[in-house]
Amino acid sequence: LKSPYHGGHLEVIVGPMFSGKSEELIRRVTRAVIARQRVQVYKPAIDDRYHAAAVASHAGRTVDAVAVRGAADIRAHLAGEDTLLRVDVPPLPDVVGIDEVQFLDGDVVLLALELADQGVRVILAGLDLDFRAEPFGWMPDLLARAESVEKLTAICTVCGAPATRSQRLIGGEPARFDDPVVLVGALESYEARCRVHHVVSD
Ligand code: ADP
Repeated sequence: LKSPYHGGHLEVIVGPMFSGKSEELIRRVTRAVIARQRVQVYKPAIDDRYHAAAVASHAGRTVDAVAVRGAADIRAHLAGEDTLLRVDVPPLPDVVGIDEVQFLDGDVVLLALELADQGVRVILAGLDLDFRAEPFGWMPDLLARAESVEKLTAICTVCGAPATRSQRLIGGEPARFDDPVVLVGALESYEARCRVHHVVSD
């Protein structure tokens, strides 16, 4: 696969929920596999276990991935130190993809830069904004440092315009600004919304 860059670099894919970030990550990774490049994909483990998994898009496409608890797990896995899944013992893969990168830990920024410096094509997908439409964690840092940034839009569930934001609903009502980002046991859902129809209650 011809890359416009010499050697390693950082590509970031952002946008709200349902904007096709996972689809785009899967598309890029699949093309790299077709080009017979060595590819390794990671995503955060939701259940705090380090295990074999898959990245799946809302439309149902999947690619094999390893679920990790943080950047340290990715480092260990790339170093061939895991006993669970022995894949890509050094040398490093040609391509490293990470989905839902906003849910890892801040060390993922340093890891991505180190990998790019070592010649790896790093493809990161994640939310640019949280449900309040505030920049999400270390995503601004990644966006600033990336060679390539793709901002995707979803479709606003209210009006059909391009959606740039993720509407958080708790019990069907817009979440409040100071509602905790992680709610345990509450009935919450998310919808893609445009700037006009994105609501954050005080
Ligand atoms: P992301 O990773 O950004 O959350 P996915 O790649 O998992 O997005 O899913 C994108 C897919 O979600 C679209 O191709 C479409 O089939 C579906 N979808 C569901 N709701 C919407 C919406 N409101 N806007 C756009 N796509 C949507």
